[in-house]
Amino acid sequence: TATGVCVLRRDTVHEGSQLLLSACLSCDGCLSEEESLKISQQSLEEVERVLALNKKCDVSKHKVLVASICPQSLPFFAVKFGLDITEAAHKLCGFLKTLGVQFVFDTTLAAGFSILESQREFIQRYRRRHHDSHALPMFTSSCPGWIRYSERVLGSLVTPHICTARSPQQVMGCLVKKYFSKQQKLSPEKVYHVLVAPCFDKKLEAVREEFYNSLLETRDVDCVLTSGEIYCLMEQRKVSVEELDSVPLDHVLGEAGDVALVRHEGRGSEGFLEHVFKHAAKELFGLDVHEITYKHLRNRDFQEVTLERDGETLLQFAAVYGFRNIQTLVHRMRKGRVPYQLVEVLSCPGGCLSGRGQAESEAGGKVDKVLIQQMEEAYSSLPIRLPEVNPALHTLYQEWLQGQDSQQASTLLHTQYRNQSHTQPPHMQW
Ligand code: SF4
Repeated sequence: TATGVCVLRRDTVHEGSQLLLSACLSCDGCLSEEESLKISQQSLEEVERVLALNKKCDVSKHKVLVASICPQSLPFFAVKFGLDITEAAHKLCGFLKTLGVQFVFDTTLAAGFSILESQREFIQRYRRRHHDSHALPMFTSSCPGWIRYSERVLGSLVTPHICTARSPQQVMGCLVKKYFSKQQKLSPEKVYHVLVAPCFDKKLEAVREEFYNSLLETRDVDCVLTSGEIYCLMEQRKVSVEELDSVPLDHVLGEAGDVALVRHEGRGSEGFLEHVFKHAAKELFGLDVHEITYKHLRNRDFQEVTLERDGETLLQFAAVYGFRNIQTLVHRMRKGRVPYQLVEVLSCPGGCLSGRGQAESEAGGKVDKVLIQQMEEAYSSLPIRLPEVNPALHTLYQEWLQGQDSQQASTLLHTQYRNQSHTQPPHMQW
């Protein structure tokens, strides 16, 4: 595209003019002119413009800068800085604060909301599966590459099956603009919210119209920068990591919040499958699942998990990563042969640590496998904490959302999907 942003740059292969099976299905006219313009504002230059305005005398144009870092970005900085993940997070926070960012958060808290809401929605869908043909399978909703592909290419075959829980990024946007800004006695448009993420696709998600407040002319997430873009900026400015201050991250609950870094289950993508699986086993069948055993089907990125009792299969979930595997899944869906109640779908092979905003080799084009392995090791060094036992989530459900079943929780933590008619690219080989 004109902006160089392609949502499906992962296992795309072009041979002559033919688009192969593994190729991106929505490349053809992927971005409208309007979207291109919005995406062009998701850049370092835009952040620098906002920072420059803060130095001018006209205080009416000043904004409070807030940065939220995805936990999938932190292992990248840990490897690049040669530090453990917590120390790397503190150095990154120190760097962002030297730029003029006032608050730096970690999005794990927001991911906790996404997980809890996905768990609740799964139980509701499971219970209405006999009278709602769209209830199951439920597809996870955290990956904007997958969402875009579903909306533009697959349409009604898939969109009613996508979990309506907002992604961690967009829950974080909501937390910053609708909770934190209020605590700071600031109008949402006075806060400029930057999100540091592992992939470019998050930029497309940030500019979706449902996350834009047209009255105040502000977005929940104003700008997404990839880990690689931040690292490039550090290199351009010849920043020495040793000389950076180590600054602990902030918490949206202020002093009351625990800023110790934790992670969710799974291989680095918040583990929606594992969380929902364990929750559903307990909630629906009264079974405690401590360990999850994956069965590799086609490859490491197409795996299955089952819950059995007395020879009967109670639950059957799958993790499907990368467009090759997604196309297999869609093919089975068209034939009505998807046995799963839930599928965790991610468009990057390997999941979010392999996002192209951080995992591409310096030569470009391919993923850096050594870097990914190092990132996986760094990520797995963090302790796991279940969102169910995170006191900050309980506080926010009560104080901000008026409880888990409230209208407020449903409005602010969920979204919807559109079917956007779009022709499939020519020469597509299924
Ligand atoms: S799977 Fe890839 S495209 Fe999807 S959210 Fe993760 S990093 Fe981004």
